Parts: sequence; structure tokens; C-alpha cells
Amino acid sequence: MAPPSGDKDAPSPTQVSRTVADARAAAVALGAASTDSVINDDAALETNLRVNKVALTSEAQARLARSTNTNPYPFTMAELAKAARDVGAFEINELTSFYYMIRDFTILGALYYFRAYFMSHWALHVLWWNVVGFFGWALFVVGHDCGHRTFSKYMWVNDLCGHLCHSVLLVPFHSWRISHYLHHCNHNHVEKDESWKPIPKAVYGTFAEWLKIVRFTPFLAFLYPYYLLSDNKWTSGNHFNPYTERLFTKEERPQVALSVGCVLVWLATLLWKVPLLTLIDAYFVPVIVFTYWLSMVTYLQHTDVKATYYRDGEWSYLKGALSTVDRSYFDWIDHFQHDIGTHVVHHLFFTKLPHYNLRKATRAVKPIVGKYFLEDKTFFMKAFWNTCNDCHYVEDSGSVVMYKSPNARITPVDETEHHRLPLSDSSDAQPASPTPIHKKLH
Ligand SMILES: [Zn+2]
Ligand SMILES: [Zn+2]
Repeated sequence: MAPPSGDKDAPSPTQVSRTVADARAAAVALGAASTDSVINDDAALETNLRVNKVALTSEAQARLARSTNTNPYPFTMAELAKAARDVGAFEINELTSFYYMIRDFTILGALYYFRAYFMSHWALHVLWWNVVGFFGWALFVVGHDCGHRTFSKYMWVNDLCGHLCHSVLLVPFHSWRISHYLHHCNHNHVEKDESWKPIPKAVYGTFAEWLKIVRFTPFLAFLYPYYLLSDNKWTSGNHFNPYTERLFTKEERPQVALSVGCVLVWLATLLWKVPLLTLIDAYFVPVIVFTYWLSMVTYLQHTDVKATYYRDGEWSYLKGALSTVDRSYFDWIDHFQHDIGTHVVHHLFFTKLPHYNLRKATRAVKPIVGKYFLEDKTFFMKAFWNTCNDCHYVEDSGSVVMYKSPNARITPVDETEHHRLPLSDSSDAQPASPTPIHKKLH
């Protein structure tokens, strides 16, 4: 019997629980209907447990359970998943995955092989930095599939290729994979999202002017290394430290240590083999360009005056997914960055949908989602500038909030107009219970 509004394609509690017993308990929280469909498929359950090695507390499980029980839309996750599956969007093809990975490595190899030709003029030099950095970003996106286990049906292939793609970009694969998974489990939750969560007004009021310039201008996209390395109230934790308790469990420490080791071996090899000035020019500058693309694109996926952010009581998996934003960056950029701007279906089906099926899934799902599908066709640089200006803070209370800004040149969309959700809370509701800014799920 199918669950009332979720199905096995939604990342149910079973996909994020550590043990079968936990998964069964979590399934019970979903109600008898969904319990049947989950517990009767132990093989699929075991697969899911191997794929996603992140445990959730009972509180988080209950929150995910609510996500399937409070569906305000005239469609269900099951219907969306069926539409995507019917067009073959969940089919993983290793040959296609390897084609894109090898293509990106080949392009990068060619750019390094012909580097000398670009050094003849400063403009070509700058162009080379940018093209190499961009294809580093493209390679990262292939590794993103590995992190979601959609690169291959085999775990070891995902892990191997994920390390290849990310280590050369100085990103520890497992560390990022785990924190990115927390992002997906909490997308657009004001306090619990792992990245680019909105800033409450009271916190915004404490920002010094210099911090506002850093955080609310395109300069913000330089902050990715800070995000990876820092462990304070503004970040989710140091991704290079296996003992970062807010991100990693004790069981995950060896994986994190392995990934950090891969990055350090790569870095040590470069420092050993390449003169420092050449290394800065030929490697570190393109890495900065790569991190700029990564930060800009992910910021734009989750930041817009039309996007809705939720707190406990209104947050659900489906609402969070439908509050992410699709954007296009010119067709050729979309192609080479593996359609990463196609983000709504990625958040709906992140454990099942390889990047080369994102457009196919969107074409299948978009007519069903209809007016609830959030996309912005503004030229991406203009959109980046606009969101930096218009999206500064959200109200300190209320279970459904949207971005506001003292600089806003446009009137933010009223959330009740935008999603037309049957809102049980309003902006004058009681504040959510105090939650650490980067509260860990478990
Ligand atoms: Zn996202
Ligand atoms: Zn993702």
C-alpha cells in the first residue's frame, strides 16, 4: 500500500537512519500505510542504509515524518516521483557518468598542456584562469553526483570517483558529502539548513558595516574556503577535522580522515613538484575561481525574494524542495556545468537523479508542480546582484518567512500569494524555540 503523500523516492527516514531498527522505528512514525511499503522491502532498505550513513535523531525523524503528513499541494511526492521515473530519470548509466568525468579531466588536461600559449598576453592569462576555474567547478559537479551516489550503482565507484574529482580541488569528499547531505535533509529550514540559510533580523542587526559588505555583495562568493575550514557560529564546522562533532559522528571519522588525507597528499605533491609562484599562478588562482562559481551558484539556488523559508511547525521536505530556485546561466554554461542550475528536481529526488537526467525530470515534473515551481530567468549576474541587495534577513519569528532587506528595490512577494499554502502560523506567531545557528541533526 502506498503512503498517503510520500513514497520510497522521497528520502524517507529509512534513508537517513543508521540501523534497520532505527529505520523501522522511523517508518512507524510515518504511519501504518507507509510502514507497509518500507518494511516489506528490506533489500531496498539495506541499500539505502549503505548509501546514506548519516543518523538522525528521533526529533529529526519526526520532522521528516511530518513532511509527508502535511502536504498542502494538489500533488504528492509519489506523483512527482512516478512522473520522473516514467521518463527514465532515475536510471543511472555509468558510461554516461564516466564520459562526463573523463571529459572534464580531458578539458582541464588540455588547458594545462596549452597553458604556455595563454601566458603571452595578460588578457589571455586572465581568460585561462577563468576557464580552468570554471571546468574545476564542472568537475566538482560530477563529484556532487558521487556524493549522492548517483554517479554509479556501486558504492566503491562513487567513492573512488568522488575522491578523484574533489581531492584535486582541495575539497575533502566525505566531509563535504556528509555536510551536503544535511543540507538536503533540511533544505530551506531557517535554523537547520546546512548552507546559505537566511539570517534572522536580530542577528543581522549585530553585523558591522564591513561584514555587511562582505556578506551582501558578490564578494560573498569568495567565502567557500572559510566555510570549509572554520568552526564557529557562522559555519557548520571545520570539514578538515574528523572530530568536528557538529558534522561528523564517531563512525564517520575514518571516512573524513581518509578524504582529508587525499587532499593533503595531493597538496603535498604539488608543493613538492611545482615552484611556489607557479603553483599560485597555475593552480591556486583557478581554485579560487572554482570556489567562486560554487558559492555563487549554490547561493542562487537557495536565495531569492520569491523563495520561502520555514521553521519547525511548517517546514516539510516537499515545501523545502519546492522553495529552491531553478536558474539558467546561458545554455552553453548550463551544459558544461552539468545543469546544476536545475535545482528543484535535484532537491526533490537527490538520492536518485543523476545530473544528465535533471532536464528530463524537470520536463516531467514541472507541469504537475505548475504554479508552485520556482524559477528565475533573470540574467544570472543581474540575479546575483539583485539577491545580494534584496535578500538580507528574515523575521525573527514566524514559521513561514521570506527575505527582506533595507536596500530592497522591489516589494518582496507575499508568501501567502506565492505558495498559497494553508499557513497555520503567521509572522506574529511565537518565536521558534531557540536553536543553535548551525544545529546538527543528531
Ligand atoms: Zn541545494
Ligand atoms: Zn546535492
